[in-house]
Amino acid sequence: MNTDPDSSWSTAQSEDFYGFKRWGAGHFNVDETGLVTVHPLADARSVAIKDVIDEAADMGLKAPFVIRFQDLLRHRVEQLNKLFRKAIAEEDYEGRYRGVFPIKVNQLREVVEEIVDAGEQFDYGLEAGSKPELMIALAMHEGADRLIICNGYKDQDYIRIALLGRKLGKQIVLVVEQLSELDHIIELSQETGVEPLIGFRAKLLTRGEGKWATSTGDNAKFGLNTAEILFAAEKLEKAKLTHCLRLLHFHIGSQVPNILTIKNAVVEATRFYCQLVKMGFPMGLLDVGGGLGIDYDGSRTNFESSMNYSMAEYARDVVANVRDICTDMGIDVPDIVSESGRAVVAPHSLLVLEVFERINKRETLGRKQRPKRKHKVVRALETLAKNKSDLGRLERFHDAVQRKEEAFSLFNLGYLDLENRAAAESLYWQICEDIASENSETGYTPEELHELSAVLADQYVCNFSVFQSLLDHWALGQLFPVAPLHRLDEKPSVNAILVDITCDSDGKISTFIDLEDTKDHLKLHPLNGQPYFLGVFLTGAYQDIMGDLHNLFGRVNELHVFLEEDEENGFYIEETLPGSRIRDVVAGVQYQHTDLCRRVKQQIDAATKRDEIKPREGVRWLEFYEEMLETKTYLRVHPEPKGKKKRARRK
Ligand SMILES: *Cc1c(COP(=O)(O)O)cnc(C)c1O
Repeated sequence: MNTDPDSSWSTAQSEDFYGFKRWGAGHFNVDETGLVTVHPLADARSVAIKDVIDEAADMGLKAPFVIRFQDLLRHRVEQLNKLFRKAIAEEDYEGRYRGVFPIKVNQLREVVEEIVDAGEQFDYGLEAGSKPELMIALAMHEGADRLIICNGYKDQDYIRIALLGRKLGKQIVLVVEQLSELDHIIELSQETGVEPLIGFRAKLLTRGEGKWATSTGDNAKFGLNTAEILFAAEKLEKAKLTHCLRLLHFHIGSQVPNILTIKNAVVEATRFYCQLVKMGFPMGLLDVGGGLGIDYDGSRTNFESSMNYSMAEYARDVVANVRDICTDMGIDVPDIVSESGRAVVAPHSLLVLEVFERINKRETLGRKQRPKRKHKVVRALETLAKNKSDLGRLERFHDAVQRKEEAFSLFNLGYLDLENRAAAESLYWQICEDIASENSETGYTPEELHELSAVLADQYVCNFSVFQSLLDHWALGQLFPVAPLHRLDEKPSVNAILVDITCDSDGKISTFIDLEDTKDHLKLHPLNGQPYFLGVFLTGAYQDIMGDLHNLFGRVNELHVFLEEDEENGFYIEETLPGSRIRDVVAGVQYQHTDLCRRVKQQIDAATKRDEIKPREGVRWLEFYEEMLETKTYLRVHPEPKGKKKRARRK
């Protein structure tokens, strides 16, 4: 496949360069032929992602798509539960771990089903944050010993559905976020005669850290402050529901990069818990919320896209800190609940993108522009470009910027023709490129020249929408690892940023993970006329559902992959979910496809009457319009050969 591998470059270098081992948690590797492989169970069994792409193509599904590795999802559920069990055994903790999966992190049925199934042996439950999520949780949840935790703002209907869960024998806990919810819970429980299980969400003073830090503190929108907790306790006593208070909950925000934050929050919350026990509430459950991170950049630091602890350390620290405080206060330890979402689902899926085009500033300009009469400013730039060694990099850069701006003013005033302007621009970029390549050769680079490599980077145009598939990157600057999925036996040599196909200059990925801080470009392979695929990894949490329809680019295709030793390539595609068709996304903004077709037909008929379109031709155009409504929203970057398409059409 790769005809010309660079002999001085190895697949091991690629593995290190893109950091697969650092952020991959044992699930991602590069094989000896230069393909990225996924190890869903972190053992020897693996799937080459390129094989999945090829098989999908045979099924008629093209990139962009999301690939889900269902075995990897199971593996994460098991890992979380096993690590908590291990910590509990090692710390001689006398309670149990009773985790729940927060549905909001990935609501897809196949994901929730897999998690419920994998969690059966651990009594792993579900968490809901809204009525729709609770409706899902109630239906999908099974087993009397698995919890359902109800968070989020609640109206009477929400509470009533939860009480239905109680009637069905489920351990479903209503977590009070606001005092008024408690009034409704009390009223409805009296009305229905159903006893609720109640939790309080405490507004901790321990501050989170990172991008999602505002979930705690005085201004958080959730939870009860200390006075409110006392007031709520009183209300329960008055309503004779003291025995219903079972849980204390907190959540300090997602992706907490620093373990110290977690420890502090656990200590503060456990104190709250113990105080409530001392007041005579039965309690029994302490819910530490979400926040368990993912090391997206593999740096093991408290940088916002990383975490300075492991899942094992998290489990040990939660368990040990709860025990220490309870021992100190002379209180029996509670069962521990965590609502870890991101850490469970992020690694199981990746986004596959195809690069189909590249934009390069210098190549189009690079064809030597030879104006018939060279303007003075062009000659000055030529001199600058030629005399490389006379002046320092920084000085040449300043001179070049000055000349470029001069050329620009001259053009605006009418003193420079198009050819001279093109020559000036092309020389300017040539000088910048020379300076940038000198930058990479020498050790120290002055601040001003740092950005040159990013400015000069090629734009690799990928067939996708950031707004649909990577919303957190656009909205919050969240970083995901990006790497080629094949050709990793070749040395990457092109500095590139990625741009999407939306009409929005924000539709791009121009910040990338790095061991220290971030990078403003990514080294990729030169395009060679063959399809070139990139993976955006660890996208299984939040991205699926947050996507929006900017430019009406819809949901992407999805593939669900399972390991299967009997299959030739070690896997099978269990399910494919085709992405949105054009008619689906236009319906979402209230256009019925039949109505659109009718309107276009009227216009074609009118044009036919005016003799601008022949009747037979008009029929073909209308057919084409109608067929387009059934196609996907993304670009068809490899149109099938003409003959083949005709045949397909006739059936
Ligand atoms: C979002 C959320 C979670 C999940 O957080 P992760 O950081 O993804 O584990 C858990 N609990 C509550 C209350 C949440 O709002």
